Amino acid sequence: QQVVFGIDIGGTNIKSGIVDSEGRILHADNTPTEAGAGRDSLLDKLYGIARGYKEKAAAQGWEARGMGVATAGYVNVKEGRIGYATSNLPGWTGVPLRDNMARETGLPVALVNDAHAFAIGEAWIGAGKELTEGFLCITLGTGVGGSWVTENGTPYYGRSGYAGGYGHIVIKHDGQPCNCGLKGCWEQYASVTALMRQAAEIGLGPSVTGGSAKKLFELARSGHEQALGLIDRYAEYVAVGLTSLIHTLNPESVVIGGAVTAQGDFLFDRIEAQVKRQTMPAYGPVRIVPAALGEQAGLAGAAKLAWLAAD
Ligand code: BGC
Ligand code: ZN
Repeated sequence: QQVVFGIDIGGTNIKSGIVDSEGRILHADNTPTEAGAGRDSLLDKLYGIARGYKEKAAAQGWEARGMGVATAGYVNVKEGRIGYATSNLPGWTGVPLRDNMARETGLPVALVNDAHAFAIGEAWIGAGKELTEGFLCITLGTGVGGSWVTENGTPYYGRSGYAGGYGHIVIKHDGQPCNCGLKGCWEQYASVTALMRQAAEIGLGPSVTGGSAKKLFELARSGHEQALGLIDRYAEYVAVGLTSLIHTLNPESVVIGGAVTAQGDFLFDRIEAQVKRQTMPAYGPVRIVPAALGEQAGLAGAAKLAWLAAD
C-alpha cells in the first residue's frame, strides 16, 4: 500500500502521521516543538521524525510517495521556504524547509502554512467536506491562524502564500505588543496564549490552572464567576476578529479549530452569540462549526498536499 507522511509544526506541538490516499491516519505522533531551542534543534527533530517514518513504512511494506509539511509562519509556497515567522518560532524566518526535507528524505515535499493545511484537511475529510460554497477557517492555538477556502475547495493563498495572516489583524490600535512586531493584533486577545495571560492577570495563573486551558474551562463550567467572565470576554474577542472577516469575505460557514474546540457548545454557543451581536444582520446567519478532525486536521491537510504533488 502507498502512503505519505504529514507533519504539522505548531508553536507548542508537532503533530505528525502516516496517511493513506483516503485520508486514513495509519499512525500518529505528537511531540513538543520546544521552539526556544532554536532552528537547528527543530530541524534535527523534524529530520528524526521523517527518518523514523521512512523506517516504519519500510518495516510495514508501505511505499512512501511523499511528504507534506505544515508550519506556523508565513510560508512562501512558490519558494518552499518560511518567508517570515513570528517569535513563536525563533530563527524560523528564511528556512528553505521544503528543500531541506526533500534532501533529508529523498521524497517530494510540499510546504504550506499550518492554518492553510488545517483548512485543506477539513475540506478533504472533515467539517468542510459538504461546504460547497467555500468556508472560512480559523485556528485558535499558540497563535491565531486562518484560511479562506474558495468554492473550488482550495485555500486562497495570495501572491506568495501569505494570505490568511488573520491573527495579525489589529483589533486594538496601540494595544498589546505582538510577537510579530505590531501592537494590538487579534492573536494577542483570541489565542489560547492570550487567554492564559488574561487569566493570570485576574489571579487565575498557573498556580490555579497549572497553565492548562482545559482546567480554566473546567473552573468556568463549575460556575467560578471570574473564570466564567473571562470565557465570556474571550468569546467576545474571538468574535471581534471574526466579524471583520465575515464582513470582508461573506462566508456561509466558519470552521474553528485548535485545542479549545474540544470545549464544544460551551464555547461555540458563546462565540456564535457574540458574532450574531457584532455582525451586520445582512451577513447572517453564519454557521460556526468546530473542526471535525481535531488536532489532526493540519497533518491531514499536509498529507493531502503530498498526495496532490505525488499524483
Ligand atoms: C502565525 C501564523 C500561523 C498561526 C497559527 C500565527 O502567529 O503568524 O503564520 O498560521 O500563528 O499557528
Ligand atoms: Zn501580530
